[in-house]
Amino acid sequence: MSDTIAASGFIEKWGASFRGPDGPDERYADFQFARETPTPQTFQVLREKFDEILLRHSEKSGARVLEEHRLTDAAFDSDGVTLTFSHNGSVGTMRVGVVIDASGRTGVLVKRFGRHEPDPLLLNIAVHAQYEGIPRASGRRAGDIRMYTRPDMGWLWFIPLSDTVISVGAVIPQVVHRRESKATPGESLAHYLANTPAALSLLEGARRVSPARFDADYSYLATRMAGDRWVAVGDAAAFLDPVFSTGVMLAMQAGVEVAEAIDNGLRTGDVSARIFTDYERAVRRRYHHFRRFAVGFYEPAFRKLWYSRPPLRSIFDAVVSVLAGNWRPSFVTRVLVEIFFAVVAAERVLLKIRGSRGAR
Ligand SMILES: Cc1cc2nc3c(=O)[nH]c(=O)nc-3n(C[C@H](O)[C@H](O)[C@H](O)COP(=O)(O)OP(=O)(O)OC[C@H]3O[C@@H](n4cnc5c(N)ncnc54)[C@H](O)[C@@H]3O)c2cc1C
Repeated sequence: MSDTIAASGFIEKWGASFRGPDGPDERYADFQFARETPTPQTFQVLREKFDEILLRHSEKSGARVLEEHRLTDAAFDSDGVTLTFSHNGSVGTMRVGVVIDASGRTGVLVKRFGRHEPDPLLLNIAVHAQYEGIPRASGRRAGDIRMYTRPDMGWLWFIPLSDTVISVGAVIPQVVHRRESKATPGESLAHYLANTPAALSLLEGARRVSPARFDADYSYLATRMAGDRWVAVGDAAAFLDPVFSTGVMLAMQAGVEVAEAIDNGLRTGDVSARIFTDYERAVRRRYHHFRRFAVGFYEPAFRKLWYSRPPLRSIFDAVVSVLAGNWRPSFVTRVLVEIFFAVVAAERVLLKIRGSRGAR
């Protein structure tokens, strides 16, 4: 797929910049200097175009693609699965050997056999829309994501989607949103943009070109991700806060691993839950690997350290490596990341002491 994606005209992304509420204290995560990042350049993809490319590639590779078919039931027996679907108002059935629940946050099978367990430390919402007329950086940084953190622990994203369109979103803690939400997603987004001064200047000549959307952006892990003849991938299995843009990468990695497990299973005649054990463990491990950073991002001690000079350049480069998507860090990178979190823990204690002194 890589060559097709690279030739599809998507915006190149080389890094991410972070700014505090007032703008000047920029922290730039340049993926080129991240540890263990052999492909530091990725893409900002328009999902409808990207998904269409993936779909046509599957078709070309031999998959039978049925579009606009909605799964309504799956009946399991010892020889296979009978799927019931609706299509253009009619109902049909089909026999398959294994079902992959790739239904995103709907989690068709996951919710039948278990549930999505919300993450208590990542209770946020998102409101977002597309804009034209927002100035962007020039050169290699023109395609980077720009993030603006807010004192209420929320943050804004600016993601270039094409040469003219930029996606703008606000991720806000649910407790804050309950207090500050407006009548419509568009008004809520305008409100969060208006009281983030650094971001506001970017919007002076901008025009919203899509309706604003609201997402109850909580994070979760499925209580069960697989069973006999079924397995869940992508958001059906787990959803992590979009702060480090890990969603599509994690979903695609899950797709690769599940395809291998099913291929082996069909060859050996065993498509029981057992063959997905390693996969499920890997999904949970990866979720927790990135979750630590996502949770940290909503914490004052983590943010303070992130915006200050790093104690050692190699520690910063190790953290950026994870932000660039490194889900299998080497021993040395893991140690450097542990040192970073140890300093965050010390910073947390210091902030607490200062806070209690201030309260006296
Ligand atoms: C606010 C927000 C911002 C995000 N930002 C980023 C980002 O910057 N970068 C990033 O990588 N990720 C981001 N993500 C995450 C990313 O969107 C998801 O992780 C990714 O789309 C997961 O892919 P998926 O295929 O599992 O699910 P989806 O993309 O949700 O696809 C699921 C598909 O299943 C279909 N479906 C549902 N039910 C049925 C049914 N019964 N029968 C048939 N089909 C069905 C749906 O119509 C849909 O087409 C963001 C998510 C949110 C909410």
